[in-house]
Amino acid sequence: MPLIKDLKSLKEEKIVYGEYDLIVVGAGHAGCEAAVAAAKLGAKTILFTLTLDSLANMPCNPNIGGTAKGQLVREIDALGGIMGEIADQEFIQFRMLNSSKGAAVLSPRAQMDRTHYQRRMKSYLETVENLELFQAEISDLLWMEAEARPDLPFAARKKIVGVESSAGIVYLADAVIITCGTFLASRVIIGDSVVASGPDGLAAANHLSDSLRELEIPLKRFKTGTPSRLHKRSLQLSDLAQQPNDEVSKPFSYLNEDSSTWQPKAELPCWLTWTTEETKRLLLDNIDRSPLYSGVIESVGPRYCPSLEDKYVKFPDHERHHVFLEPTGLDTQEIYASGLSTSMPVDVQRDMLDTIDGLHGAEMLRFGYAIEYDLLDPTCLDLSLAVRSVEGLFSAGQLNGSSGYEEAAAQGLIAGINAVRWLAGKKPVIIERSRAYIGVLIDDLVSKGTNEPYRMMTARAEYRLLLRQDNADERLSKIAYELGLISEFRYQKYLAKYRRIRTELERLETTKVNAEEPAVRAILESLGSTTKSGSFSFYELLKRPEISYESLATIDPERPKIVLDPDRHEAAGERVLGPSEAFAVEIEIKYAGYIKLELERLERFQELESREIPADFDYSNLTALSAEARQKLSAQRPLNLGQAGRISGVSPADVSVLLVALKARRRENEPDA
Ligand SMILES: Cc1cc2nc3c(=O)[nH]c(=O)nc-3n(C[C@H](O)[C@H](O)[C@H](O)COP(=O)(O)OP(=O)(O)OC[C@H]3O[C@@H](n4cnc5c(N)ncnc54)[C@H](O)[C@@H]3O)c2cc1C
Repeated sequence: MPLIKDLKSLKEEKIVYGEYDLIVVGAGHAGCEAAVAAAKLGAKTILFTLTLDSLANMPCNPNIGGTAKGQLVREIDALGGIMGEIADQEFIQFRMLNSSKGAAVLSPRAQMDRTHYQRRMKSYLETVENLELFQAEISDLLWMEAEARPDLPFAARKKIVGVESSAGIVYLADAVIITCGTFLASRVIIGDSVVASGPDGLAAANHLSDSLRELEIPLKRFKTGTPSRLHKRSLQLSDLAQQPNDEVSKPFSYLNEDSSTWQPKAELPCWLTWTTEETKRLLLDNIDRSPLYSGVIESVGPRYCPSLEDKYVKFPDHERHHVFLEPTGLDTQEIYASGLSTSMPVDVQRDMLDTIDGLHGAEMLRFGYAIEYDLLDPTCLDLSLAVRSVEGLFSAGQLNGSSGYEEAAAQGLIAGINAVRWLAGKKPVIIERSRAYIGVLIDDLVSKGTNEPYRMMTARAEYRLLLRQDNADERLSKIAYELGLISEFRYQKYLAKYRRIRTELERLETTKVNAEEPAVRAILESLGSTTKSGSFSFYELLKRPEISYESLATIDPERPKIVLDPDRHEAAGERVLGPSEAFAVEIEIKYAGYIKLELERLERFQELESREIPADFDYSNLTALSAEARQKLSAQRPLNLGQAGRISGVSPADVSVLLVALKARRRENEPDA
């Protein structure tokens, strides 16, 4: 049925519920971002989900952010996405991870009030103009033959025209974004019990995979897993080490940054315990009953979120593993046992808890389980997240092989923006990997593909010192503003922030203190900073590890009127720098040398990125290329030489061949150039 001959007969044969600019299938973290971005950009959008009550559900640990994921959330926010703003209202615990390490890996992470996060997202979506929400299972993608494009011999041969629900109702649109997460043909596995189900006991989506296969879209199958949920009253938390909230909670959204009114909803602790030798013995004694090792689970899981039994098998020398007991909301007793992800049979799960301090006799509210699901091979997409072989079809989220709410939301935002730009015949927004983690994420998935659920990590970004969590607004606000995704107020707030930061950097560079002055000497010594003679700019002083921007404002305890930097308060123009702005000033100075090196490396990187490959470039005659490179390049059609070089199977030698061929082609086309 999905191949449609003509719309006229379709409308005669079927109930057509409505015609839209854009259809988004799936209201998870990807679908919500995609739908809101598209509606904000003026597209008449309808968003489908299997059940509205699980919109933006968090089937795993209800935390947002974490290493590299925190950077993604701040980038989504700077680009006009909504995850950061919603999260800021549902914080129940905050931690800045890697705070003992450098600025390049600082990552905000916050525990969410899970059910309230969903409710708040739903009520927000219900207020968005141009956006309809609908509860229905989409079982088919409807498509027609696309007109042949002589100018683009490699163009898509099919085009999307709409979707059909399992109730046989048709919804028409020229663009469709699929963001079906972990629901396609999903099955939940606990021991040897296998049930066709979505996560959290929700229904699976059992039809759409066939429709994708009919469209000859390559599918894969992955698995992921989650631990049991425990009832707080049954835990011996007082025996365990507490991990408090950070002294200062920090919002994700730049709208709330340095705001005097923003407050976290709560600042709860979590608790730390450890698995024991007994835990290890129990799981290894029962390893043949693990579906991972009994063959029940056939697909690949996330390397960086392994189940406990997997950890024992893969890291036999590790005697114990930490377990964080995390709250999941203010009005629930449900505790998330982070580190105990498992799909072992329930009797083993129960006995396992008895082997861990603080969990003896723990009451389980939900069992740990594994889930297998269908997904797309992301190498069938281009950097705009369009499916290359089907005009108007886009894909985002876990369906593209990633793992994580943040990774999904980032893709959803980009797919939403680009579906609307495609409808308007405009060039897609491609975020380079040198500009944002969002760019690293999409480029890695689309160019390299993935053989396991892809989790973002700071090590994946070549320029992570430039892609910090504190400066996502500097890297993305202008794009968001020009797209119309952030308000004038927000844009002016961003401009004012960096104006103040730049003004202050100039002032610190030009303001000098004389180290021979007793007051200056006294203060520097009180800061444990040696003073040689002569005068120093504040910029030079701030390069010293023992000196912070804060400490420059130190007052001489003996003579309170004497401060090292008397002009600070007036100098910043409109107002004193907020904590985030002061942080940015300090980073710019203390990391100036490293940033300069990274910018030089970036320049070399951009050399290859700027070498565009024409859309009609024919690789088949380039016999100097390896056969694998010819096949991969023809299939994936990279946009530029940099991306071509990242496609697995394309060697540096192939890139050189391509460079020569592109130069020759340019000479042919522009003999005088
Ligand atoms: C058991 C489990 C454990 C996980 N563990 C981790 C982890 O440890 N770390 C981590 O980073 N991430 C983990 N995740 C992944 C995380 O949940 C996902 O990355 C994230 O939810 C993906 O967001 P998404 O928007 O792509 O899809 P989802 O959040 O899965 O949302 C998909 C949406 O699509 C809808 N839908 C699907 N098919 C259809 C259809 N045919 N018609 C209409 N609507 C449809 C669903 O109703 C839902 O609204 C785990 C997920 C699960 C299930």
